[in-house]
Amino acid sequence: MLGLNQDFPLLLSSVLEHGALNYGAVAVVSHGHDEAVRSSYAEVAARARRLGSALAATGLGPDGFVGSLAWNTHRHLELFYGVTGIGAVLHTANPRLPPAQIAYTINFTGYRTLFIDLDTLALAESLLPSLETVEQFVIMAPRALMPATALPGVLCYEDLIDAGDPGFAWPVVDERAAALLCFTSGTTGVPKGALYSHRGTVLSALSTGGGNGWGLSADDAILAVPGFFHCNGWAIPFFGPMYGAKLVLPGRRADTEWLHALIVTEGVTAGPGVPTIWLGVLEHCRQTGQRLGRLNRLYSGGTAPPIAMMEAYLRDYGVRTIHGWGMTETTSGSTMSFAPSCLGDDEAIAAMRTQGKPLFGNEIRIVDERGAPVPRDGKTPGLLQVRGAWVSGGYFRRPDVAFQTADGWMETGDIAAIDPDNTLHLLDRAKDMVKSGGEWISSQALEEAALRHPGVMEAAVVAIPHPKWQERPFLVVVAQAGVVLTVEEMRLHLAGLVPKWWLPDAIAFVEELPHGPTGKLAKNVLRDWVKEGRVGV
Ligand code: ADP
Repeated sequence: MLGLNQDFPLLLSSVLEHGALNYGAVAVVSHGHDEAVRSSYAEVAARARRLGSALAATGLGPDGFVGSLAWNTHRHLELFYGVTGIGAVLHTANPRLPPAQIAYTINFTGYRTLFIDLDTLALAESLLPSLETVEQFVIMAPRALMPATALPGVLCYEDLIDAGDPGFAWPVVDERAAALLCFTSGTTGVPKGALYSHRGTVLSALSTGGGNGWGLSADDAILAVPGFFHCNGWAIPFFGPMYGAKLVLPGRRADTEWLHALIVTEGVTAGPGVPTIWLGVLEHCRQTGQRLGRLNRLYSGGTAPPIAMMEAYLRDYGVRTIHGWGMTETTSGSTMSFAPSCLGDDEAIAAMRTQGKPLFGNEIRIVDERGAPVPRDGKTPGLLQVRGAWVSGGYFRRPDVAFQTADGWMETGDIAAIDPDNTLHLLDRAKDMVKSGGEWISSQALEEAALRHPGVMEAAVVAIPHPKWQERPFLVVVAQAGVVLTVEEMRLHLAGLVPKWWLPDAIAFVEELPHGPTGKLAKNVLRDWVKEGRVGV
């Protein structure tokens, strides 16, 4: 017997309309190229409807694609809704990928229209010779700032908006229909597309934004540091209208002084981003003696946040870190650490160090190399698998790349241990683990230990071949400005923190480590550096 509830489809257009109706006056503050715009959910919705109707009039509809190559502004936010609202799919191309990979993702998807902004114009011009299908470039800028460019088929975004109908009614599409397409950042080979449905996207935003996740409400103001092109901007474009939180969109700029100024002047409460950004803000506050206004929590994801950073934010500024694990393939967060306010600082930090528990709607397990379950005892490492309502079941147009087990779990390529209460401890990416004499050494745990030395700014561990042990760890360190570190000093420091057999066989110091397009350490590049002798063992 079926229940008698109405069949209310979970669509992104309803998220926007919910925001417009309930939180219509809540601000969306946008800083684009030479332009600061204060808008609201009512205005964003009216303009998204105009955009949707104008795009629909060109014949775009279900199964159609358009692309964006843009930073976080109000226009990019409108585009998310305008395109998906009419049942079409938005491919958010990542301007931080190497140009050949950006072109690959656009050509692979194959569409006519690419939305760009003034900060990606030069990039789009340089990509033009390698774009196979794009014939029209819509520049997301006010008319007064429209540039002279050799790009073909140029259209001002504001003309599209003007041509549209603000009273346009969104069509009801299948909630399982594709809405957004995001490619992996290619750190593990050719970028592969994760194709997100309306349903998966809405459920992920509902669950990750709720109590044991981001804990969002209409009292929040979110600084949208993660690019909208990376895992749907960690769901921030949906969090705003869904929870009535103010959105602060910093455009292309990500320098510390600017972010700090926005935090204070816009009353930001919630600060998401990779740790590098928040380390910078912390350093800025320490140097200038400034505070952080209403900021009360950080969201760190994509990589393990340094403990010293979480400690400093908590003890010196009362800012908690909510630490999550996720992948492009899991839309955004899958698990999140939650430290209840009754915990003392030390206990809270211990909780924040973990990757936390799965949010309702997705599940985790660990297995051995044969697929047999590994005990949830908090110690035994296993291959992490995940399944759930916003977990990808395959890659876009790549049936040749399978990552799903016969019983429906996605293989993540990560190694983890899980506590009896289901708390996740991510140990490493499988390929970053150092396999010494048949035992695993976690490169992440070694890096974390190295980072506890106050003179260390950044640390990376990669495996080097060894005749007896097969692999041994090699630690590469960037020292804090003005600090001179020695191999001996690092050894002594690590000896107090990790088992003896984990101690790196070699330690080197460099000025800078390589980073990928999302700000994470690019260990594949570092491994090449080591092979090429650019970093000496
Ligand atoms: P890419 O795979 O291209 O780097 P993703 O954003 O999809 O881009 O990266 C997902 C991977 O990042 C995970 O499989 C995991 O290895 C790592 N990761 C994500 N969150 C965390 C975290 N909280 N702690 C440690 N590693 C993490």
